[in-house]
Amino acid sequence: MRRKYICGNWKMNKTSSEARKFAKDLNNSEFKNVDVLIAPSFVTLESLRKELKSEIEIAAQNISQYENGAYTGEVSAEMLKDIDVNSVIIGHSERREIFKESNEIVNEKVKRAISEGLKVILCLGESEEIREKGKEVEFVRDELLASLKDIKTLENITIAYEPIWAIGTGKTCNSIDAEEMCKEIRNTLIEEYTEEADSTRILYGGSVKPENAVEILSKENIDGVLVGGASLKSEDFIEIIKAGENL
Ligand code: PEP
Repeated sequence: MRRKYICGNWKMNKTSSEARKFAKDLNNSEFKNVDVLIAPSFVTLESLRKELKSEIEIAAQNISQYENGAYTGEVSAEMLKDIDVNSVIIGHSERREIFKESNEIVNEKVKRAISEGLKVILCLGESEEIREKGKEVEFVRDELLASLKDIKTLENITIAYEPIWAIGTGKTCNSIDAEEMCKEIRNTLIEEYTEEADSTRILYGGSVKPENAVEILSKENIDGVLVGGASLKSEDFIEIIKAGENL
C-alpha cells in the first residue's frame, strides 16, 4: 500500500514572512494517513523547517551536482542536510527548459543527492509537441532511464510525471491519460529494478487544484501530486491534502 504524497512546489514565490503565515495555517490542520511536503525557495528553507510541524517534510527545489568548491550561486547537499532539509526536487521542467539542464546533468544531480542520503523527487514529462506526435511514452521512458542511469536502488526516489503542457496552464492531463503514463513509468521501473518498483511512489503534476484532486488521486498508479500554483494558497493546498487522506 503506497500512502498518498501531497507535495507543494512554491517555485520563486513567497518571502520568509509570507511562508510563516502559511506555516501557521498548515500547523493548525490535522492530516491522517497522508504524507505532505513543501518545497520553498532556498532562502526560506531554514526558517520554514523550524516553523512547520515536524511531520511535514521540507524539500529544496534544486541542488548542485558538485560536492563543494568554486561554483558561484550553487547549493550543495551538505548545506541542505546541515539545516535539516533531507529532500530535493530534481529535473523540474523549468530547470530543464529555462536553465538547460540535460538528462546528463539531472542524472549527476540525482547521483549526488542519493549518495549524500537525500530523498529525491525526480520530475519527467513531455512537451505538447511530443504528445501531438504520439511519442510521449517513448520520450518519458528515455528521460526516466537516462535520469536514473547508474542508480542501483529506488529506495529514496519518488517520480513525478509532469506533462510540460499542463504545468501552470490550467490544462490538466485527463486522469485516464495521467494514470496510463504513470503505469508505463511503473512498468519501466519494474523492468529495471524488479518488485522494488511496486513501492516507488509516482506522482502526477500539472494544474492540480482542489476541484480535480480526488479524481487524480483515486487512480491506482498515481500515488500523489506535485502542485505548483494551488500550493501557494493554504486553503487550496489543505483541501488537496484532505483529498489524499485515506485513499
Ligand atoms: C509544477 O510546477 O510542478 C506544477 C505542477 O505547477 P502547476 O500545479 O501550477 O501546474
